[in-house]
Amino acid sequence: MIKKVAVFCGSNSGADIIYKEEAKKLGLYLAQNNIGLVYGGGKVGLMGIIADAILENNGSVTGIMPDHLYQKEVAHERLTELQIVQTMHERKALMEKLSDAFIAMPGGMGTLDEIVEIFTWSQLNLHTKPFGFYNIENFFGKLFDFFEHMVKNQFLHQGHYDRIAISDNPKDLLTILNRYMHGEIDKWF
Ligand code: AMP
Repeated sequence: MIKKVAVFCGSNSGADIIYKEEAKKLGLYLAQNNIGLVYGGGKVGLMGIIADAILENNGSVTGIMPDHLYQKEVAHERLTELQIVQTMHERKALMEKLSDAFIAMPGGMGTLDEIVEIFTWSQLNLHTKPFGFYNIENFFGKLFDFFEHMVKNQFLHQGHYDRIAISDNPKDLLTILNRYMHGEIDKWF
């Protein structure tokens, strides 16, 4: 069972109100189901919104923030726990270690970098944990098109692509993540 989930999401909150609303919805679901959040530790954008939603509903939030961002005072001040690390790489490694599963919500390059790194580590069997996308309004549709393009051109295994959990509903997404079974697939064609 998933007890802690890392959520990667925008440090901006997006152009449409729906992103904020859905961040709150995911936060509420996690809090109500006693699933702790591990995230980047920021108070800005969707990051701050999901953290607040969980804290307001008595859930647990662990933030992992690199020192240089902490200095810029974008850290959330009232998390259950805030860990300061030195580099972005250390942060991603610690987020991976502390979490049972990984979710990307809409975001920018930081979000993409984080979830794709989790995907690459999964391909190399460096972890065997589930990961997926909270696909609000098919935000990630074009990315999935590109992944399918990689599959078609034999740069990505269908079996690796199939590891991705995709849903626009928190309950369904967590159900898919909880059912995940990691089978080893050779990385090389
Ligand atoms: P982006 O999608 O480019 O907005 O980047 C968001 C992701 O990168 C988050 O999941 C964070 O882990 C990290 N990140 C980027 N900016 C910040 C920030 N100001 N505070 C904390 N984490 C950040």
